[in-house]
Amino acid sequence: MDLGIKGRRALVCAASKGLGRGCAEALAREGVAVTIVARTASDVARTAAEIAALAGQPVRHVACDITTADGRAAALAACPQPDILITNAGGPPPGDFRDWDRDAWLRAIDANMLTPIELIKATIDGMIERRFGRIVNITSGAVKAPIDVLGLSNGARSGLTGFIAGLARKVAPHGVTVNNLLPGRFDTARLRAIVTSQAKGQEVSEEAVLAAIKANIPVARVGDPAEFGAMCAFLCSVHAGYVVGQNILMDGGQYPGTF
Ligand code: NAD
Repeated sequence: MDLGIKGRRALVCAASKGLGRGCAEALAREGVAVTIVARTASDVARTAAEIAALAGQPVRHVACDITTADGRAAALAACPQPDILITNAGGPPPGDFRDWDRDAWLRAIDANMLTPIELIKATIDGMIERRFGRIVNITSGAVKAPIDVLGLSNGARSGLTGFIAGLARKVAPHGVTVNNLLPGRFDTARLRAIVTSQAKGQEVSEEAVLAAIKANIPVARVGDPAEFGAMCAFLCSVHAGYVVGQNILMDGGQYPGTF
């Protein structure tokens, strides 16, 4: 299927690894002019070169922290008028809410709610003027069903989700769609770090922790970031213009509800 977005410009945040990279790769393969952002200069440059080699076209890259005003300014200077915006940042740490002070909450809200809103604010009017725009926010399955140790994520991402539900309907008449992609368990550096830490905490092997995770997922495996990227690219395609304000869960069937 031709996704109809060749030559469009995309800004993909937090994309040197994991889910962001999966999205950047899928878009670049469709001929989208991709700019990727991540904090570590060497990592983001290497990933840009690797994606460029796969896609057969240049990929721009910016080393910055997207959760800061300076970082967002640098990202937008490199890709000022994207037609496609993929928002993403690292997730907040696990813990017990009794240990989180106001600053811990503000960091989570800044990274996982206000940063996407600021990026959308800076780019959406251009999309409206050009009568085409695609915004995909990488959130989490925690929005659909809370994860007990990730209260900061449950809270901050739900705030973003509520805001997007309203915004998506306002901009839809102008050819701009805004949707959220909710990952369950995907094979990324973040998941591997969680597995390592749980294995240490429970004094069991990493294989045992991973097997327990897979046992809870109907497809009996964790997701591949390339699968996540493919869904993201479809949401950004010309074929997805009727998908508005949705929360699309990709979790291998782990969420047990009918809807
Ligand atoms: P990852 O650690 O594999 O990759 C994160 C990427 O984001 C890296 O490229 C890193 O350099 C970049 N990054 C992190 N913080 C940044 C910042 N402030 N500014 C710029 N770049 C930044 O993580 P992932 O597994 O791909 O997760 C991506 C998002 O999805 C996170 O918010 C995570 O909480 C969420 N999530 C992941 C899973 C999963 O199973 N992998 C499940 C649910 C939610």
